[in-house]
Amino acid sequence: MARYEFRKMEKKLVKYLDEERYAHTMGVMYTCAAMAMVHGYDLEDAQAAGLLHDCAKCIPNKKKLKMCSHHKISITDFEREHPFLLHAKLGAYLAREKYGIRDEEILNAITYHTTGRPGMSTLEKIVYIADYIEPMRDKAPRLPKIRRLAFEDLDECMYEILRDSLIYLEENPKDLDITTKEAFAFYKDLHIERFS
Ligand code: FE
Ligand code: FE
Repeated sequence: MARYEFRKMEKKLVKYLDEERYAHTMGVMYTCAAMAMVHGYDLEDAQAAGLLHDCAKCIPNKKKLKMCSHHKISITDFEREHPFLLHAKLGAYLAREKYGIRDEEILNAITYHTTGRPGMSTLEKIVYIADYIEPMRDKAPRLPKIRRLAFEDLDECMYEILRDSLIYLEENPKDLDITTKEAFAFYKDLHIERFS
């Protein structure tokens, strides 16, 4: 028996996401499932994380900030200046309170899907990567290579995505989250350790 009521969660999500975000969400959910098959992770957990990763995305930024203070979710100065980032933390909160998710691995995968972090768990990497490569994505450079790596080597894939993201974000250095920098440093060290 399925441990999650996927249809029920989908029906709820469709009310809180716009059409484009919902389509992206489905792409991420199935990409998470496919990656879980390859990397030996629990399929349903991976699907649930993918399904809910952006559940707070369409809440207006002002309301995001309000909800965080109301629910006593701590936010950094950087997040206050870049409130779109809060959809990750707030998404984890809603996943717990409104969708009944208790699995900390899933909640962490939602929390870190935007910035990444050093030493990510398998599920954190799956969701982060699936968010970047799902079939509807077409803007990022080097997608064919990164998509192949997603099914071969999660740590290498993280390294390549974070590298590209930093190059992109460095054009706007003030929008660069320290956590993303730390994540990149971690996966770069891992890359050097393994391949030199
Ligand atoms: Fe997101
Ligand atoms: Fe997303």
